[in-house]
Amino acid sequence: MPTLFVGHGSPMNAVEENEFTEGWREIAESIAIPNAILCVSAHWFIPSTKVTAMERPKTIYDFYGFPPALYEQQYPAPGAPELANTISESIKDISIRPDQSWGLDHGTWVVLRQMYPDANIPTLQLSIDYTKPPRFHFELGKRLAFLRDQGVLIIGSGNLVHNLLAVDWHNPGSIHKYALEFENVVLSALNEKDIEMLIDFPNLQDLVKKAHPTLDHYLPLLYAKGAAGSDWTYDIHNQRIILGSISMTSFKFG
Ligand code: ZN
Repeated sequence: MPTLFVGHGSPMNAVEENEFTEGWREIAESIAIPNAILCVSAHWFIPSTKVTAMERPKTIYDFYGFPPALYEQQYPAPGAPELANTISESIKDISIRPDQSWGLDHGTWVVLRQMYPDANIPTLQLSIDYTKPPRFHFELGKRLAFLRDQGVLIIGSGNLVHNLLAVDWHNPGSIHKYALEFENVVLSALNEKDIEMLIDFPNLQDLVKKAHPTLDHYLPLLYAKGAAGSDWTYDIHNQRIILGSISMTSFKFG
């Protein structure tokens, strides 16, 4: 199985047809049907690492002010409690606690509803521990790599640039200079296989702060990249910055 980093953008992408939803479907069509999906969503950002372990994860509507139709959407994919236990028990040096209270938040179900509309693939979420530095998330991604041999699709769901305070709602096509600059730094780091740049961004902290005032939407990339192992290539999908400061650019690592 490859690993994915997907820019999820607006929750409306669950019900709209646009270039991004088309791009997600293209990604799904380019890979084998997974046995299960493990999604690391930007929207489960808590002070510990947990993995959902319920039989039937609920659809979570973790957004406000959208049309009622969006709140009627369901993504009833089954859970995979045994797989959750395997993950928890296989990684000895990091505590990953099975969780019964979360479910599938919009970072997960908005994208999967387009990629796998039948909702018949067992789906788990992994939380992002915000008390840990970026390197921890890359290292945890590496430890999750064994799941790929079991047909598990690992997805990091965030946005490559994500600054909601700087969104330019009146100019959907606008691109802030720092947004493009940050995206180009990531693209050239991937080209040069400069992992340290992706983890630490030496000397570029001001740029990182502008592109990501908080790292919730960036860190999912480190899971996808970490789980991709050392021998990897990548494809780019949905390469576009919208609203000034949101990048939809997505990667398939394999
Ligand atoms: Zn988001």
